[in-house]
Parts: sequence; structure tokens; C-alpha cells
Amino acid sequence: MPPNITTLGFDADDTLWHDAHDFRLTEDRFVSLLTDYTDRLPLEEHLLAAQRRNGLHYGHGVRGFTLSMIETAIEVTSGKVPADVIAEILEAGRDMLSRPVAPLPHVEETLKTLRGAYRLVLITEGDLFDQQRKVTASGLDAWFDAVEIVAEKSVPTYRTLFSRHGSGPAEAMMIGNSLKSDILPALEAGAFGAHVPYHATWTRDEAAEPQGADRFHRIDHIGKVPQLLARLG
Ligand SMILES: [Mg+2]
Repeated sequence: MPPNITTLGFDADDTLWHDAHDFRLTEDRFVSLLTDYTDRLPLEEHLLAAQRRNGLHYGHGVRGFTLSMIETAIEVTSGKVPADVIAEILEAGRDMLSRPVAPLPHVEETLKTLRGAYRLVLITEGDLFDQQRKVTASGLDAWFDAVEIVAEKSVPTYRTLFSRHGSGPAEAMMIGNSLKSDILPALEAGAFGAHVPYHATWTRDEAAEPQGADRFHRIDHIGKVPQLLARLG
């Protein structure tokens, strides 16, 4: 029997709009502030380690990233980082919170096509304030039946959300660029997963593709979602 998919979950960062790109630009700015103290590579390694540690406490949004940059600056300068460099790091973080948000190619036409036929749920994690701002600034909120900003994209999260907004995970599909947070936990919750790779995948999102999962699909871009659904139905 063909599956009856009623509900589609969409990741936001690097699925509906660019995100990793902004972090890269800010990271470049951060590196340039500390060139007198250390080389790029050890600095990036310190920063990544700080993000991993801090992600657990502050989440993976701009706030956690800013704190991680400050922590890294203190580490690599053995506590001697000047206050004006800290001030510039804070400014770089604040600038990220006011950047424009433009939908990625195919996003709007795809949501328009699917709207009405499926319940569309935007599911994103990160800083509450920043995610709310991006949802509004993108202008995409009008296409969604629900927007959920969650602390963690875990198996229970997907179970709960696909039951709250749809007919349960078995009749839902999660669409996103991250195998680790969009696809693998959604599959484990019993949903379908459509991986839409983004060219500059964030390092912490790296994970292997699932093997032998018949609910796993990979598409080149988000505009292929309607075709995938037609093929499955
Ligand atoms: Mg994403």
C-alpha cells in the first residue's frame, strides 16, 4: 500500500534560507581580529571545540557562537585579549542578528505547490529570538500551518510535533539539509526523511547517510519535493 503522507516538516537554516554562509563570514572577521595572536587553523579548531562544548548549554545559534568566539579569544591569547577585540566580537555577533534573510531557490514555488495538499510545519532549532526574526524576515511564515522553534531536534521532538500538527510520524516527512538533526532522528521516529544537501554543510552536521532505510530519500534541491511525493504516493 502506498504511504499516506499528510504532513511535511521543513528545516529552515540552509534548507529554506542561507545560514552557514553567515557564520563563515563572521568567522573570517573573527580570524582577522586575532591574526596577531595565532594562525587560522588552530584558531578554527579552538572555535569548533568551544562551539561543541557550549552548544549543550547555549544552543547552536548566534548567542552560543558569540560566546564561543569570546571564549576562544581568551584561550588563544592566554587571557590577554584586549577589550576592544572583545567589543568587536560582540558587534560581529550582533550584526548576525540583523542580517537580511532571503529564501533559497525553489523554496517559495515549492511551498506554494504543496500548501493545502499537506500540512506544512517549519521545524527549526537555535536562538528563539533569532529564529523568530528570520521566519518573519523571510516572508515564508504565511505558507506554513505551524512554526515550531525547538531546543533540540531529537526523536521525541519529531514524534511530538508530527502528532501535534499531523497524523503522527508514520504519515510525515521531514525535509532538511542536516542528516544529523533533520533526517536521522526523523527516520528513527518513524517518519520519512528527504535530505536536501547544502553545499557548505556546517561541520557539526556531518553524519553518514543511513543504510538500508527505505524511508530515506535524497534530492538535489527542495524543488524536487513534489516529484518525490508523487513518486511515493
Ligand atoms: Mg539546516
